[in-house]
Amino acid sequence: MSTFQAPKGTYDLLPPSSATYLAVREAISAPLRNSGYGYVETPGFENVELFARGVGESTDIVTKEMYAFETKGGDRLALRPEGTASVLRAALEANLHKAGNLPVKLWYSGSYYRYERPQKGRYRHFSQVGAEAIGAEDPALDAELIILADQAYRSLGLRDFRILLNSLGDKECRPAYREALQDFLRGLDLDEDTRRRVDINPLRVLDDKRADVQKQLAGAPLLRDHLCDACRAYHQEVRELLSAAGVAFEDDEKLVRGLDYYTRTTFEFVHDGLGSQSAVGGGGRYDGLSEMIGGPALPSVGWALGVDRTVLALEAEGVTLDLPATTSVFAVPIGEEARRRLFGVVTQLRKAGVATDFAYGGKGLKAAMKAANRSGARYALVLGERDLTEGVAQLKDMESGEQEPVALDAIVEKLGSRLA
Ligand code: AMP
Repeated sequence: MSTFQAPKGTYDLLPPSSATYLAVREAISAPLRNSGYGYVETPGFENVELFARGVGESTDIVTKEMYAFETKGGDRLALRPEGTASVLRAALEANLHKAGNLPVKLWYSGSYYRYERPQKGRYRHFSQVGAEAIGAEDPALDAELIILADQAYRSLGLRDFRILLNSLGDKECRPAYREALQDFLRGLDLDEDTRRRVDINPLRVLDDKRADVQKQLAGAPLLRDHLCDACRAYHQEVRELLSAAGVAFEDDEKLVRGLDYYTRTTFEFVHDGLGSQSAVGGGGRYDGLSEMIGGPALPSVGWALGVDRTVLALEAEGVTLDLPATTSVFAVPIGEEARRRLFGVVTQLRKAGVATDFAYGGKGLKAAMKAANRSGARYALVLGERDLTEGVAQLKDMESGEQEPVALDAIVEKLGSRLA
């Protein structure tokens, strides 16, 4: 135990369970890499205004949860609370939208920071894999992203998740709906904070989780009934493409999500084994965001899936990933001379691509074999004094327990072909 602990609301990823996190990131990104998405990496912090304008001045993320600070040079920065605004900023800055075909399709993986009240599944530092398709308005693109997320979760073995789908309309139909909703909400018995929200961002009130608020929302006007013809047709096409792909979804007319930039398609992936923090991922279309941060009109769609909660969902479903052992061969020298010689063999094995580890620290045979066992290696390679004089090492199959001498200069070839 050191004097220090991980900051509140954070935790460390350590072996062996950290391997699951890597595998989840890999599984979420694999369908994207297979579908024309290129990798993008942006800084962990940005100008605070990017998020204030992009995510929305009135959102919890910006008003309460952002790690904002001033640098010694006087710059106002914030640790990134989400990925979309940064990725769009980067694409615009590099003029990717002018370089060739639209949409520009990008994926990312990294750490995000929100000063939230920590609880299981809700942390101040968490990890997301995300995807953005920038600069095209096409229902097939919205459908593609939802299908790829569904594929990612299924490839991990998850089954108890649901896809919630809604349309938030666009700048044609949302303003009239917004007014109708405000009229309705102003007639309710709401606390001061919520009344303020009614003025600034009434759609977010629909997302209020409190039972007394939800009860009053029973007769609220629904955007579904106010969508313009173009939004209605667009949404219907997304729904049909998903159904044709065999991806089941539920229409959720109250799904609004916590970020201001969404238009038209919005969706959330929820997992039923996670209690209150049930959203494992979410996203949608953000046709106005580019203009909000000073770019041209670039209709876009994207999602972010939470790695931490996906791991919790795997645990909730009792799914253990079939992770390959990281070490194939564990080398055990007995004595000084053997140590030198075997270390050379280990280096050669590694160069040949065989995952190999070594018993360091001058351990005795018993302790070293225990270490070999713990490493999960398929083979132990033991080199004793007598072996040295005979020019062999003992190759022990850790599964069957069988052991055979192998000429020292034939080991790399032999293990290379056995493990291939
Ligand atoms: P959001 O940007 O809020 O839609 O978040 C997308 C996904 O990131 C969510 O569905 C969660 O899986 C994950 N996520 C968001 N906030 C947190 C958090 N504080 N702790 C852990 N995961 C989070």
